[in-house]
Amino acid sequence: MAEFWNRLKHDFQLSIIMLVGLCAFVGVTPYAAYRLIEGNYLVGVVDSILVLCTIGAVRWAWVTGDTIRPGQFLAVIFSVGTVIVANNLGINGLFWFYTLIMFNFFVVPPLQSLLATSLALIAICVLGLMPGGQIFESNYQMMSFIVTSGIASFFAFVFAFRGRRQREQLNTLATLDPLTSTGNRRTMERELTIAMAEQRRYGKQYGLLMLDLDHFKRVNDLYGHKAGDQVLVAVANLLESASRESDRLFRLGGEEFVLLLPLVDMLGLERAAQHLCSAVAEQIRSPGGPVTVSIGGAPLRRQENWQAWLHEADECLYQAKHAGRNGYIISGLDVSSTKALKVVSGTD
Ligand code: GH3
Ligand code: MG
Ligand code: MG
Repeated sequence: MAEFWNRLKHDFQLSIIMLVGLCAFVGVTPYAAYRLIEGNYLVGVVDSILVLCTIGAVRWAWVTGDTIRPGQFLAVIFSVGTVIVANNLGINGLFWFYTLIMFNFFVVPPLQSLLATSLALIAICVLGLMPGGQIFESNYQMMSFIVTSGIASFFAFVFAFRGRRQREQLNTLATLDPLTSTGNRRTMERELTIAMAEQRRYGKQYGLLMLDLDHFKRVNDLYGHKAGDQVLVAVANLLESASRESDRLFRLGGEEFVLLLPLVDMLGLERAAQHLCSAVAEQIRSPGGPVTVSIGGAPLRRQENWQAWLHEADECLYQAKHAGRNGYIISGLDVSSTKALKVVSGTD
């Protein structure tokens, strides 16, 4: 049960699908039963299909974790269902349109929702205007419906759009480092925890590199904080581009970065460290000349927790600094094999 609430708490869209599903189930089921009992089989069957589809979509989202397609499925099913019901019940069915407008804006992104709602509105008006159409009692009533549902859709769109933008901005603020746009410490902690769980459950291999710029204080002291910031951004960009797509880079704080490498063995970890060390030395320049990094690495073995894993890499980083900087040390790897790289003196 705790896991159930935990999942809902951390997955906003899933919780929305569950909530909307619950409301649709509770709100539509009595109508389905009522229509079937009174003999309006078309509406009764449509309502029943809506309820069954809702249960199916909620289950689909829960099992797969995919909230996009179940949301789209629900928006299509409910838009079509509302048109059929309104066409059959006339003005009494039209009230459901206002619920549909809210519903759509909850389950799919704002533009898709606007599209689904507009198509449903056009469909109902076309059906109303057709010879023999009995949805609207007068043209005036139809105009009133179009205007009120149009205004409701417009406001729902604006709020959904703003809400989504704000959620994305908050997410960026909460997960990314503002200077380098790499993952921040909080994101790193989460991803290391996931990596440990995956290793335990599936035996997936992981390695971790901790990188620290050498004598970075001098860059700040001699050329100013702004120059230091530019170097940090350049290093982060280079580390991103020089590592694999599946590797994840985080800024631990100050001039320290952590790279999480999935599917990598000891040899792969060493190669990556060597590659990154020489790439920085060759390509990054501060106003005072080449910039170098020292790297400590640790493969994921049986460490108790991510803190122990990070600590192991940090110890190696400390040794790499003492070994003369611009080099790397990997935990468990013969230290004599560690290559202290020569700084490539640069021509800018
Ligand atoms: P070492 O080779 O032993 O790592 O020496 P270091 O000078 O790199 O290390 P130290 O820990 O003495 O200094 C780190 C410096 O990083 C101190 C601070 O000026 C700088 N720094 C930390 N965060 C930032 C930042 O966000 N921007 C800039 N420009 N500098 C930063
Ligand atoms: Mg440093
Ligand atoms: Mg440091």
